[in-house]
Amino acid sequence: MWLELNARIEPQHSTAAQSRIDTGHQVGDIARQLADPEHKGVLLDAQRDGFENVFKRTAELLQTPQPIFEAGFKTDNALAFADIMLPDAQSGANEWHMVEVKSSGSVKAYHLDDIAIQSHIARQAGVPLKTVALAHIDTSFVYPGNGKYFGLLKASDLTEATFARSEEIATLITEAQHVAELPEAPDIAIGPQCHKPFECGFLFYCAEGLAIGETEGAADAGFDINVIPGPYTKDFRLFKEAHPDAALADIPEALLNDMQKRVRDCSLTGEIYFDADAAKKSTHPNKRPAYFVDFETINLAVPIWAGTKPYQQIPFQYSLHVLDENNQLQHCEFLDLSGEDPSRQFAETLIQHMGEHGPVYVYNAAFEGGKLAELANRYADLSPALLAIRKRLVDLQPITKHNYYHPDQYGSWSIKNVLPTVAPELSYQQLNGVQDGQMAIDAYYEAIQPETTPARKAEIHNQLLAYCKLDTLAMVKLWEYLAGVSLPDFEN
Ligand code: SF4
Repeated sequence: MWLELNARIEPQHSTAAQSRIDTGHQVGDIARQLADPEHKGVLLDAQRDGFENVFKRTAELLQTPQPIFEAGFKTDNALAFADIMLPDAQSGANEWHMVEVKSSGSVKAYHLDDIAIQSHIARQAGVPLKTVALAHIDTSFVYPGNGKYFGLLKASDLTEATFARSEEIATLITEAQHVAELPEAPDIAIGPQCHKPFECGFLFYCAEGLAIGETEGAADAGFDINVIPGPYTKDFRLFKEAHPDAALADIPEALLNDMQKRVRDCSLTGEIYFDADAAKKSTHPNKRPAYFVDFETINLAVPIWAGTKPYQQIPFQYSLHVLDENNQLQHCEFLDLSGEDPSRQFAETLIQHMGEHGPVYVYNAAFEGGKLAELANRYADLSPALLAIRKRLVDLQPITKHNYYHPDQYGSWSIKNVLPTVAPELSYQQLNGVQDGQMAIDAYYEAIQPETTPARKAEIHNQLLAYCKLDTLAMVKLWEYLAGVSLPDFEN
């Protein structure tokens, strides 16, 4: 708040954060349509018309019984905007219902703060609020198609709990005022608040000069307690809260499990941990053909394909490397940018490409296995073949986790962290455009929009293919390392 108000620094959002914001706008649009089927409401826009004009217009509109969207309220020391204001069915403009719209699948603790602040300011500004509710996505909703979204949102009444917090919110606003009036920026230290509940838009500013994975106050070696991976015990959590910048050597031994001790020791010594024998035993070095597959999916808050649900993960792409009996590597792939539900064709093509025997390596089998099970559930005729593929899955992630650790992984076994340590010649940074899963989702979504030009669609097509191909090539390289196999050089 201080940075935005006083230093006039604009937040910068990551691709994932921007995508979440865009989803919020999309859900907001649908909420307005659902709340106002007769199109009698008025949508205000403080960015376009200016704050003062919106406060004035809101005051006028509150005299007449029509829905108001993005209404603005102001008191002496605070202002707020409400997603939806609905006049009471009985008393008209004499009483109002405030509805906050969220794109999540349930009510979260931080939503309660949002709505308590907004309704407090509205009431202080003299708005006769009768109820306060939060509308969020009903994840059991099945989209029937044809733009019919009735049932997508579920409202939870929060009137009693919200109104009871008036005093607490008044204190919070006073405290926020004090911060806003500070002549200099308050002490800013990177911590869990920068990522929870969402990544802060000022991370680029506060984390300036810190390397990835490093935190302010990190030990000389570049590691501190934050490199220790979860899950944490209660005692570890309490220690971490009390000593957020603790040096690795100062963490009591009894608080760490074997895995966490390994991360600590490798970080302190700079050595790599690798149990080559155990890794080899788990990775079936001699079985051929061997398949290496990776799926890309999209999970839309607002489903666009009939028969699908909010946040259901729909597979739209896979990359598959196949290592044959002669240790030759073949590559096949699937990508559907038609804009139609890609699920059926994805499943059919996958079945054709997968053969009937041989291990199928994935990195996080819960994901690929889960998608195969969902597809089998949707398409009964393909179910036996899909479930047979699922049975062949071999998960490289736990094998890596149990047998390998490099200090440069910074406590993470994400393939993006592991790959540079075993195959530094393969880099996601070298890719044009799409470099991570969220970027792949955004690119896919952009490509299927009717207004996307053929040239841009072709560009996205190539970027997505290159990205997903690198994912499975990374798996081949990792498997080669874990299995102790030496494959002939192959083209990237
Ligand atoms: S990045 Fe973290 S420390 Fe900086 S403003 Fe955001 S929450 Fe505060």
